[in-house]
Amino acid sequence: MNTEEIVAPCSPRTGAHLTLRPLSMEHVRITDGYWARWQRDNRTVTAPHAMRWLEKDGVLDNFRRLADPAVTAERRGWVFCDSDLYKVLEGIGWDLSHGPSEEFGRFVADSVALLERVREDDGYLNTFVQAGLKERYADLTRGHELYCAGHLIQAGIALARTTGDESLLAVGRRFADHLVAEFGDGRRGDTDGHPEIETALVELYRHTGERAYLDLARQLIDVRGHGVIGPGLFGPAYFQDTVPVRDQDTVVGHAVRALYLLCGVMDVYLETGEDALLRAARRQWRSMVGEKTYLTGAVGSRFEGEAFGDRFELPPDLIYGETCASIASLMLSWRLLLATGDGAHADLIERILYNAFSGSTSLGRDGFFYVNPLQRRSPRPPAPAGGKPLRTDAPGTRAEWYDVACCPPNILRTVASLGGYLATSDDHGVQLHLYMPSSVRAGEVALSVATRYPEDGVVRVTVERSPASPWALSLRVPAWCRRPSLIVAGESVPVERDERGYAVVERVWAEGDVVVLDLPMPARLTVPHPAVDAVRGQVAIERGPVVHCLESVGGEPDLDAVEVVAGAEPRVEWDADLFGGTTVVRVEGRLRDDSGWAGDGWREVGTPASSGRPIELTAIPYRLWANRGSSTMRTWIPVA
Ligand SMILES: [Zn+2]
Repeated sequence: MNTEEIVAPCSPRTGAHLTLRPLSMEHVRITDGYWARWQRDNRTVTAPHAMRWLEKDGVLDNFRRLADPAVTAERRGWVFCDSDLYKVLEGIGWDLSHGPSEEFGRFVADSVALLERVREDDGYLNTFVQAGLKERYADLTRGHELYCAGHLIQAGIALARTTGDESLLAVGRRFADHLVAEFGDGRRGDTDGHPEIETALVELYRHTGERAYLDLARQLIDVRGHGVIGPGLFGPAYFQDTVPVRDQDTVVGHAVRALYLLCGVMDVYLETGEDALLRAARRQWRSMVGEKTYLTGAVGSRFEGEAFGDRFELPPDLIYGETCASIASLMLSWRLLLATGDGAHADLIERILYNAFSGSTSLGRDGFFYVNPLQRRSPRPPAPAGGKPLRTDAPGTRAEWYDVACCPPNILRTVASLGGYLATSDDHGVQLHLYMPSSVRAGEVALSVATRYPEDGVVRVTVERSPASPWALSLRVPAWCRRPSLIVAGESVPVERDERGYAVVERVWAEGDVVVLDLPMPARLTVPHPAVDAVRGQVAIERGPVVHCLESVGGEPDLDAVEVVAGAEPRVEWDADLFGGTTVVRVEGRLRDDSGWAGDGWREVGTPASSGRPIELTAIPYRLWANRGSSTMRTWIPVA
């Protein structure tokens, strides 16, 4: 047992190669505001909704039919759908850190009892294989056996860390012991087509101290990249199996696989300190952010292979942008932040959270996008009520569930564990990375944070408790922020953003001291990298960390024909009628009249431009789109 284990999704061991230490979710509470409301809805709406779908989709019956011959249900669902149960259990596990729940407790106990009956004597557990539909490890390319094991282990870890109940973890550990016996010490030279087991095994090592789990995680990272998985449908790059991870310069292939793999790479780095792993992960992260990430934080440009595209291949309408890939990018960024202390990683986490991640989920918290476009040209049919589209159907509104149901439970576990991502500590003090109403405890330091962020950028931090000796409070100053200001215990002090992107105040603190950080949030226009051909000549509207979009619910205005007037100054307004009150950005625009083109797809250069009439454009936060029925939407807007 790691005696200093931290209740959080990533809990490096004492002595790990950290610049910043994570804080326990027990000590970081989101107390109010947008995320606290979402965490409440996560417990009361999303989790029960997910549990119902596990029944409806037969995920639980897949286990029951193996446990009890009297259950005659056919095995249903994809080869990897055991992981739906495991991720829901993980979400519930993290949620239980917010307080007990009889309903969740029962669900966990029933699930554990079921899994204990289904698992084989040697620890192996997989309903697809145990139903006789495949041989064990006969198809690592597509079988997802280790992937599912990873999610089982992570669920067990979550429950063990928040409740002390190790019964689910015991099932996961038996499976891990079996994997060590089967694959460990080079007994097999191949690995699962879908990374995930690597990060889970490191977490299990952290929890148990059993070195064999860490060694197996490293082995599975080492063998990948040498063509050990097979070509599958999309070729070995889809599986990150063409270039060994230490030599790779950019993210390639299936976006979720690439990023889960890098999470495992970073976890192995944090425990071993092997610098080549950190360098490879940083290189790939930088390439991803600079060349392969959408403004909303979404990643994955191609439907084919659910994959990263080429550099600067970032079409806003044909994007894949799977919700799970945004979450994986967040998880990777968090590990990099812990390793390096570089606030750029926290900047990306924030961009993902307020845009791609928030936009994935309906305001009712029971509807989900799998694919997260930045532009929709024509309204699509709404998602079928009570039904579940294929992941690639990209319905006009968020669907209740998906045929491939990876994303909704991933959202569940991320919201439940969000407290683990707010703050860290080091030998000098405490760092605040994400601003929300919260209480933060780190050793002898206790802070409370009051803010309306991101409605405005005023963050008020009160020192509730402090040791007598001086320590440093580090407040992230996001890269988008110009002219931040800081008041410390009533005195205005100049803000100097350090090389990591933080304003650092070191002093002897007294109980009741207040620090007010003001991050002004005027609306701003953003241009894309010039090489992103798909949106060159266009601008996006942002305010603070929030990307805005134009949404047209009834077809007016025609978003194919809107433009922003060159030099227009966007202005921030409060619209009390929209979504029960929200901040919008208005900007002077033009509605083009393209009727003179009469069906021409192109013309010789020099032809007179289309006429147009002035129009006021109203941009809403991107995260709110598709909550008023099927609509058209765009984030990048041409400049007139
Ligand atoms: Zn997904």
